[in-house]
Amino acid sequence: MSTLRDIGEFGLIDHVTRTLRRTPGVVEGTGDDCAVLRFGNALLLATCDASIEGIHFRRDWASPRDIGWKAAAGAISDIAAMGGEVRYVLASVACPADSDSTDIEEICAGIADAVESCGAALVGGDMTGSQAVIGIDISVLGEAVDGRYLTRAGALPGDAVAVTGFPGLAAAGLLALQRGIDAALLIQAHLRPVPRLAEGRWLVNHPGVHAMIDLSDGLLQDLGHIAERSKAGINVDSDLVPLGPALNGFDSILCEPLECLALSGGEDYELAIALDPALAPAICHEFAEKFGSPLTVVGTVESGWCGVRLDGQEPGHRGFNHFGPA
Ligand SMILES: [Mg+2]
Repeated sequence: MSTLRDIGEFGLIDHVTRTLRRTPGVVEGTGDDCAVLRFGNALLLATCDASIEGIHFRRDWASPRDIGWKAAAGAISDIAAMGGEVRYVLASVACPADSDSTDIEEICAGIADAVESCGAALVGGDMTGSQAVIGIDISVLGEAVDGRYLTRAGALPGDAVAVTGFPGLAAAGLLALQRGIDAALLIQAHLRPVPRLAEGRWLVNHPGVHAMIDLSDGLLQDLGHIAERSKAGINVDSDLVPLGPALNGFDSILCEPLECLALSGGEDYELAIALDPALAPAICHEFAEKFGSPLTVVGTVESGWCGVRLDGQEPGHRGFNHFGPA
């Protein structure tokens, strides 16, 4: 018998999806941040994401409202990853019968806050019992405006690879919470991530951008998904990965190399893209002007091999994998 620990999160997904039949109207099925579905004249983007107490959140570190916000923001981020606009959200919450009713109402209010912050509507869901822990599942429906969307599959050999903002801040915030360190900006990054919807919409309209993903599991791991779907190699230059000013002064306190947090820390919900190298300097410049936050080239797409490398070497640790070794 093989266990989930043996095959890992991505092995399980491969196994479950291998037997699925393609259906008319499914433009992009499993394997990307969202499914892309033909719906009349529109292209619908559809995704769902679960957050489970003890795995995704701890109630002693996060308020119920933060927990709801983060669950919804993480799911909405998959629409940003395709360059779409969020339209409707449904939320299911499972909780033990002895839960404080105010806490559950606050979780739902946090979900509603995140949904409304991006101009979408919370239109339904489900409340159900659970034995021990709280679970939240968020389904998001969005639209590929004018039929435009980006997948993980479009990276071309020779492309530059770039990332928005400063990956690693959320992981640093988690460490700060675990170690009782006062670091408001980092903790905010961990508890209240903001989906990069406007950034995704802007990038999808640049013909020089070929592939996109949001960073949920860590920069190297998520770039690995672009590499795999694009059947290419991505080499990341560690010297190019930007370290956020919010990390200044925390390198010794967090007791963790900041570079490792930026390369493999999860839940930043920044966007990573592959883009035409000739257009990269202009796109990065315009992006920074428009959003007041950097778009930084951190690597290149290569041919002749598939996967992700760090400074030309196989990386030791890429990021988060449910069921994988701790
Ligand atoms: Mg994603």
